[in-house]
Amino acid sequence: MDFKLSPRKALIEPPDGFVANGIARSAHSFDPLPIRLLDKVAIDESQKVIYTDKRTSGHPYFLSWIARNKRRAEIEVQICEIAHIATLREQGFTQKLSMEKSDLMVRSYAVDLIATAGKYGASDIHLMMRGTHTDIQFEIQSKLYQFATLFHAEGNAIARAIFQGIAQTKAAMFEELAYQNAQISGSEFPPECRLASCRIFRGPAFSLGADGGSFMTIRLQYLSGHQKEAGLPALSFPPRPAGKFALKEMGYSADQIEKIDLLMNSPSGVVVISGPTGSGKTSTLFQILQELARIRPYCRQVCVEDPVENPMAWAVQMVITNAKNDEEVGIEFANLVRGALRMAPKTLFLGEIRGPAVAMSVIEAALTGHQAWSTIHAPCPFTIVDRMELMDQVLLARKCFCDAEIIRGLIAQRLVPKLCEHCKTSFADGQNNNISSRLIKALRSRGSLENVFLFKEGGCEKCNFTGSSGRFAIAEVVVCDEELMADFINHGTSVARKNYRARLDADLPIFDQALEKVFSGLIDPRAVEEAIGRISLLPKDATSSI
Ligand SMILES: [Zn+2]
Repeated sequence: MDFKLSPRKALIEPPDGFVANGIARSAHSFDPLPIRLLDKVAIDESQKVIYTDKRTSGHPYFLSWIARNKRRAEIEVQICEIAHIATLREQGFTQKLSMEKSDLMVRSYAVDLIATAGKYGASDIHLMMRGTHTDIQFEIQSKLYQFATLFHAEGNAIARAIFQGIAQTKAAMFEELAYQNAQISGSEFPPECRLASCRIFRGPAFSLGADGGSFMTIRLQYLSGHQKEAGLPALSFPPRPAGKFALKEMGYSADQIEKIDLLMNSPSGVVVISGPTGSGKTSTLFQILQELARIRPYCRQVCVEDPVENPMAWAVQMVITNAKNDEEVGIEFANLVRGALRMAPKTLFLGEIRGPAVAMSVIEAALTGHQAWSTIHAPCPFTIVDRMELMDQVLLARKCFCDAEIIRGLIAQRLVPKLCEHCKTSFADGQNNNISSRLIKALRSRGSLENVFLFKEGGCEKCNFTGSSGRFAIAEVVVCDEELMADFINHGTSVARKNYRARLDADLPIFDQALEKVFSGLIDPRAVEEAIGRISLLPKDATSSI
């Protein structure tokens, strides 16, 4: 048989030897590989050579698969490195999975996947088609495990086969860009699986590659008497993201990082980060969510964003696809959050709170025992409460959500350019024509100008002629407790703020932290006025600002 390999394209063509109705199979082609071996075996059908790594070569599933195939033809097994197998698979030396719904082989893969998850006693199967590849994970006793990494197209074919070929209760069509539900009766599976039914939720998701990303979550419901199979190969947690937690490098103090660590370790409740566009709040959240994936790679993270700002390889990132205006965004957002809650997430990122529907969804996530993170536009951490209340004074009255179990933390952040050490100019140099006398007076009322430095227009070689070297994140981190929440409800925001800031462990207001940096020559006072607020003349005997 003349068998030409055509990489990638071959994946979506019917396997060689399949007739139109997908029943006959060529005498040369191999039995379907067990799904767990799909990414660990490369197959050269024309030469009848099987490539696999040493570990897989001794796997009982592999041995019985080889035995079945050897009955039909003489085949050779070659042991090689797992990286070489991946390369061969990329070149097309794979068992071809067809996108055709009549394809019995893909259907058998889909059934095999669900039955295998059942043997592990998994509560959920997550298929994540990420454009570049597909991650298949099992949720077992509330922890995620990586089951297999397949090609994007392979995962897509299996997900379609599940939706179109096996599920009974479903929408008439598989729609790429719609969020869809479906159900499979347990009778589709061998009786020993003891499956009562499977509930499916699928839809588009942010993708890292050129092909559109999507996800499918399958919740397994068992009949009584279901038992996990003994002696199955151990699975490992999903891979941890590379890199390190960079909040310190961004400008957060050790104390603030400890407070954020406390918030990251609260099992439920919402943390809201505020700041205007360009304040770096989404970069901070990215760092936090990435660190959470490093600490607890076994916890499902689901994001609902509009739009997606940072790709997160470890999370499912749902996207708003069909909304035309703010009201529709709010409705779709709320629907997606409801969908997200069905994916057994531990951590949710719901961004950003622009209207009452999103605010209510965020509170609902907290009330149902999830850890949620979100963003909002508000001038300081305390005004986040006012901002939410103003969105709907009945449904979002502060007494409904000002509870330290619901709102765990409030953070405000700004970004300010860091002066270039090599070209910043001192007040003493007398070249400060562009700074107003009003600002000079205001600064003098607050301290000595001896260590105040200014930005040099045109910069120097060291700073690429920009005058600055990176930016500082300046933040105020508030860890909520009963006392603060009681103040919010009984005495209003300004009393709550004043009492909280009087505490010994409270952060200085962002403005005061920025002024400290001005008086130690790290940032230009004009940058403070641009990004944070006006520097006013300090009245005699006054101590703080804002
Ligand atoms: Zn410079």
